[in-house]
Amino acid sequence: MTVSLPVEGACMCGQVKLRVSAPPIITMACHCKGCQKLSASAYSLTAMVPAAAFEVEGETQIGALHGANPYHYCPNCLNWLYTGLSGAPFVNVRPTMFDVPAWSTPFIESYVTEKLPWATTSARHSFAKFPEPDQYGSLMAEYATWSGTS
Ligand SMILES: [Zn+2]
Ligand SMILES: [Zn+2]
Repeated sequence: MTVSLPVEGACMCGQVKLRVSAPPIITMACHCKGCQKLSASAYSLTAMVPAAAFEVEGETQIGALHGANPYHYCPNCLNWLYTGLSGAPFVNVRPTMFDVPAWSTPFIESYVTEKLPWATTSARHSFAKFPEPDQYGSLMAEYATWSGTS
């Protein structure tokens, strides 16, 4: 499926706008206990995009754990928007901020060891925790083919 880029998205109230000008590198669902709390639901959804292709309009507020990896929220509606270190090559955006269903389709799922008993996704690959660092290269290549972006 081809998506015409850039894609514009926004938080629930519209105060923070997001723009992505490259297709995701991979899409994920995470079932870990932390993501269950973050999402107030069964799992979080992520589209990993190149930081160079990601723009934010409007101030964000840091929430969640206030740790090394900042979780960016809209200061007004408190929607969780993206996670990422400044200077890192990739940003993990919450794909439901965009009207692109394909970006919210998880290709991999992580932490299935902590998932709620009923929670299932259509992910192609499931991991007990996260993939090993050396697995990402082949997963990203397979994602590009699967998603039609290669
Ligand atoms: Zn908002
Ligand atoms: Zn998680």
